[in-house]
Amino acid sequence: MCIYNKLAQSSNFKDLFIDTFNESTDMHITFKLSNSFPDSQSAVTSPDSLNSASHQTITLNANHITTKHPLTIAQTIIHETLHAFLNYKQANGECDSTNLSPSIYDLESLTLGELLNDFNYNCIENATNDHNLMFNLLIPVMVQQLNEVFNSLVATEDLDPTLFFYPPPNGNQHSFTWENAIYYMSLEGLEEANSYTSTTTEIPNYSTSEALKQEYHILINNSSTFNHSTCEE
Ligand SMILES: [Zn+2]
Repeated sequence: MCIYNKLAQSSNFKDLFIDTFNESTDMHITFKLSNSFPDSQSAVTSPDSLNSASHQTITLNANHITTKHPLTIAQTIIHETLHAFLNYKQANGECDSTNLSPSIYDLESLTLGELLNDFNYNCIENATNDHNLMFNLLIPVMVQQLNEVFNSLVATEDLDPTLFFYPPPNGNQHSFTWENAIYYMSLEGLEEANSYTSTTTEIPNYSTSEALKQEYHILINNSSTFNHSTCEE
């Protein structure tokens, strides 16, 4: 798939594989497309057998491939790949419930590979824990990976749009920036994280709100506003 191939050229995406799973990894991911997802579901990641995470399948909503912006699809692949990594780590790591992990905030100084290798999942790897980890620590990773594929997935004429919008609740004018767009994109799917609320995501330089995130999603994925045909083969 074109979008996956572009991602695979991202050095950060490659580092994620190499740092975390090195060359001896026996993790294998198969990508599939499904026409039977509801529009609200972009993908699902699941192990191919109940007792092993070595082989996993990431199934993407086929309709989204044709209706969403390629950068949105790239974000979905990044998000689902992180789930696959975390599934694998949990299944193959030591699971010692008497030795609970340090606060993930203690792990902030680690590289991503160290982080994912060292993180003790408290034997309770699940989507909610994954989303907490992603929200608390992996947003910069997702933003970096999206930035690395940005130039190949965003059309030249769309690089510097003059675009204003007026999101609820107060209808104040916002001007579209790709920096904000990519940040909000990385939050997609993390709404259940413990510290995710419309008001607590106050990361410096971003005026964050759920409404703004939703407006960005609608704008980016409107093919009459942005050219979606940068990655069609
Ligand atoms: Zn998820």
